[in-house]
Amino acid sequence: MKNIFFPGVFLLCFIAAANAQTTKVYNKNGYKLTLTNYDATLDTTELTRLAKTFYIVYPELAKEYNPNTLKDVKMVVDTNYKGVAATADGKVTIASSWLHKRPEDIDVVTHEVMHIVQDYGESVGPGWLTEGIADYARNKFGVNNVAAKWSLPDYKSTQNYDNAYRITARFLVWIEAKVKPGIVKELDSQMRKHTYTDNSWKQQTGKTVDELWKAYTEDPAV
Ligand SMILES: [Zn+2]
Repeated sequence: MKNIFFPGVFLLCFIAAANAQTTKVYNKNGYKLTLTNYDATLDTTELTRLAKTFYIVYPELAKEYNPNTLKDVKMVVDTNYKGVAATADGKVTIASSWLHKRPEDIDVVTHEVMHIVQDYGESVGPGWLTEGIADYARNKFGVNNVAAKWSLPDYKSTQNYDNAYRITARFLVWIEAKVKPGIVKELDSQMRKHTYTDNSWKQQTGKTVDELWKAYTEDPAV
């Protein structure tokens, strides 16, 4: 009996898995997006919003930072991923639990696809700058930040430039506004070309990153 029974169990599992996964392939304006969803309980409107956001922001990020960025991007809505989202090798993984909890936080896509545009490879620069630039890009190019209640936090004395993400992003906004317009594009380019060093800040602005941060803390308005 067992020999007859087990194949049936495997078959049922296979059907269940196949039903939970849907893949949709989009081709538009020279960019291909393969969107795979493993969460059958997620509103399909949310999936459409992910794809729509991709097609708004990715070409803009490519144009601004890296026209040679990948033309073929994969996005997966994952039921097992424990963080919010991650990107590697042209594939964005977004936790479905996060989309249930924060459906307006659609610019998770903007932050993550900026990592594809960055394409720093084995980066010669610090991780805090990579994440700061990605949130700088989300702040500048995001389509739903206000509704998501996502914004750059005001300066606090407990912060430092290497806190990454939104704290670094706000510092970059300040440098762009008060010291050196274009600094983000330049640093991003140097990171991609692997020419970035600790001295890049001084080359670009005449001040070290520590000196810039000190000036920021003294007058952090943006
Ligand atoms: Zn990131």
